[in-house]
Amino acid sequence: MSNQKIAILGAGPSGLAQLRAFEAARRAGVENLPEIVCYEKQNDIGGMWNYTWRTGLDKNGEPVHGSMYRYLWSNGPKECLEFADYSFDEHFGRAIPSYPPRAVLKDYIMGRIDKQAILKYIRFECPVRWVAYDEATEKFTVTVMNHKTGEQEVDEFDYVVVATGHFSTPNMPYFEGVERFPGRVLHAHDFRDALEFKGQDILLVGASYSAEDIGSQCYKYGAKSVTISYRSNALGFEWPEGMEERPLVTHLDGDVAHFTDGTTKRFDSIIMCTGYLFHFPFLPDSLRLQTHNCLYPDNLYKGVFFQNNTKLIYLGMQDQYFTFNMFDAQAWFARDVMLGRIQLPEAEQRRADMDQWLKRYDGCSSCSDSIDFQAGYIRELIDQTDYPDFAVEKQADLLKQWQLDKKEGIMTFREKTYRSTVTGTLATELPSSWLDIKDDSLEGFMSLSFIERQEKLEHEAETA
Ligand code: FAD
Ligand code: NAP
Ligand code: MG
Repeated sequence: MSNQKIAILGAGPSGLAQLRAFEAARRAGVENLPEIVCYEKQNDIGGMWNYTWRTGLDKNGEPVHGSMYRYLWSNGPKECLEFADYSFDEHFGRAIPSYPPRAVLKDYIMGRIDKQAILKYIRFECPVRWVAYDEATEKFTVTVMNHKTGEQEVDEFDYVVVATGHFSTPNMPYFEGVERFPGRVLHAHDFRDALEFKGQDILLVGASYSAEDIGSQCYKYGAKSVTISYRSNALGFEWPEGMEERPLVTHLDGDVAHFTDGTTKRFDSIIMCTGYLFHFPFLPDSLRLQTHNCLYPDNLYKGVFFQNNTKLIYLGMQDQYFTFNMFDAQAWFARDVMLGRIQLPEAEQRRADMDQWLKRYDGCSSCSDSIDFQAGYIRELIDQTDYPDFAVEKQADLLKQWQLDKKEGIMTFREKTYRSTVTGTLATELPSSWLDIKDDSLEGFMSLSFIERQEKLEHEAETA
């Protein structure tokens, strides 16, 4: 055993990627691996993918982490988040459609984890309360509340990996008159079940993934009308009858919203789909990443090492076209630095490298540019480690196709199928339209009779 000690904060996909990276090294026979402790606030692994009906505080009085809701399906093709070291074929033993519901993706994330090998590192129901760094000893002191024992615990570490996510703390806007709105006003973080809004006229503020997806869910499960109010740019999809976009709300008068174009409409409920704040209440200012949801947060060398103290590592802090495989790319790179296999350059060179990426990011003017930007970032990381190489550029092409598919049909894009860049397997088709499949459970989904493309082509040839 080396005498290095590493704390991983959070056991969602990013924290699990870090654990998996060290486990891969152990299996490859690397000796002298550091001691690892992973602190997790919830009582299970999976992070955001653990659905909880709770909102507000959890049973321990800690802020509920989950922002996912019932009936949530993957919003991007699964072929773009496939682990390079654990394929969908390996997990499910058969081809499945490109857009699975949450429970199916969660099953896949969990499937990669060798519970016996990895769970022993994780301390559940242990929210991190404070992290301090001592310049003299070059060690971090991590203080956690162990809710299982009711005792606070303190330990010392050489590295701290922050993998606590950034889609949990609501960014809640204010509009004049909202305090007198007679219906329910909530943030997307607290949205749990579209059926709550059946038969209602609902207003969604925000024009990004949450607005698009919660709006579509509510439409699917019977809202009377869905109005999406945008501040900068409209989503611009061809919405079905009953859904529309309007510019920003100016104020509310009772249950009537006024918009900047002078129009008004009455609503039963308001859902603020206005994004999330980066929130690290356990970090002092000197160690805290200050950023907003973007593809290249400043002061993170290679997107992970905190510039002012490179023993502090942040995973998954970028906005995400790529998710699980990007977290892996980061975790493998971070592991190799912690193992001394990769040397970090001096502060000045790190600054120059970040500036170069920020400049490139500044030059992105379209969605396609942004997708290529993130793919290029991942490419740079995976080229330097033994994470199994994967066709990230091909996945970027799939993401561009995904953008076009959404433009073509915002209610039908989840019926499209893509080919895995890891195994070459073509996804099967859903047996009916996404709007018609209301059961989102793992069992329900896996009992659907998916249509094999080949079978369908033969059938089409026969009936032609
Ligand atoms: P998280 O999954 O958020 O995990 C962070 C973990 O840290 C949690 O387990 C939390 O309990 C723990 N934690 C937090 N604070 C503390 C603390 N103080 N002490 C100890 N532990 C702590 N991605 C996709 O690829 N496809 C999708 O379809 C998709 N849909 C999404 C839908 C919604 C509504 C949201 C909000 C996100 C969605 N995402 C999706 C993105 C999602 O955030 C990532 O897939 C992934 O969960 C990020 O992993 P993470 O480990 O970085 O963070
Ligand atoms: P987001 O992408 O950060 O977008 C926030 C939106 O809120 C932007 O449109 C922003 O508009 C708007 N906004 C912020 N403050 C506002 C204000 N004061 N007034 C009006 N509008 C305001 O956040 P998100 O949509 O919640 O998405 C977060 C993550 O969750 C994404 O990674 C996404 O992939 C994921 N997600 C996935 C699914 C799924 O289907 N599986 C569903 C939901 C979310 P401006 O452009 O003007 O700033
Ligand atoms: Mg490599």
